[in-house]
Amino acid sequence: MSALPFTLAGWPADAGARAVEREKARATRVNARQDSAEGEQGAAGRVSPSPAGRRGGAAAKGESRLAMVRRARRTYRALGEVYYYAHPELDFEDPFQLLVATVLSAQTTDLRVNQTTPKLFAAYPTPEDLAAADPSVLEELIRPTGFFRNKARSLIGLSTALRDRFDGEVPGRLEDLVTLPGVGRKTAHVVLGNAFGRPGITVDTHFQRLVRRWKWTEQEDPVKIEAEVAEIFPRKDWTTLSHRVIFHGRRICHSRKPACGACPIAHLCPSFGEGETDPEKARKLLKYEMGGQPGQRLKPPADYPGRPAPPLGTPADGA
Ligand code: SF4
Repeated sequence: MSALPFTLAGWPADAGARAVEREKARATRVNARQDSAEGEQGAAGRVSPSPAGRRGGAAAKGESRLAMVRRARRTYRALGEVYYYAHPELDFEDPFQLLVATVLSAQTTDLRVNQTTPKLFAAYPTPEDLAAADPSVLEELIRPTGFFRNKARSLIGLSTALRDRFDGEVPGRLEDLVTLPGVGRKTAHVVLGNAFGRPGITVDTHFQRLVRRWKWTEQEDPVKIEAEVAEIFPRKDWTTLSHRVIFHGRRICHSRKPACGACPIAHLCPSFGEGETDPEKARKLLKYEMGGQPGQRLKPPADYPGRPAPPLGTPADGA
């Protein structure tokens, strides 16, 4: 295993708390300077300068819009140092496989999908094959991903649509993708961003939770969250941003017990302390390569510093 850039063992015991204090003092100084500058140019020249006319976005208590935008961008860069290997966690070799895998990933882990798709793609390599599948055979193949009857219906429906309306090809436009059965905006962005190189923000459950903890937005509706976060970052960063945020949500900033005491971006987070702050206890909450466990992909990218996921049904899988 190659070394992680952020070695958890080397993260000082009270580093999170000390960094938070340092950041608060720094932010107070910077805020005072920036508040006057904000009136002149807005955040990076892209956001409304006046508080009343401000675009969306939450900001932490006492923090200006400009300071929040800068903190968000620093967070993005800091996450990039920690998760330099951030990537889509579904195994796929072409847009069709990614589309199918993303539909299957609803209400389950990417790990379970990756353990399921090798047999599925071997049996049905093209949309034409999958459109002609026997539903009961398909259901059995995808059963480990849960909700398999609905998912089988979606897969046959979207494959039929690809065959009949798109010449058997996955379309590379949002407006076309969302017309496919079982394909919403989130799935479409995953496919566009990772199979077509068209930047998009993937607002899944992790993304929603983290950007609200970071006070980048107060919105709860995924489309509004997407719109507000899109105002903070340049378009070219949207897909990578999604990967970094989702990686952090899966590994450290968990829903019920965020591992604040082992969090490398604690100094940038207004919600530090929402989870476990004791460094030793926090470290035990880390997941995947951060916790010394296998990752989600059976075939991870070459720069992934952890171990590949085990195939379904092997002793290491524990299924
Ligand atoms: S809530 Fe805790 S774990 Fe999540 S980003 Fe903030 S400090 Fe890190």
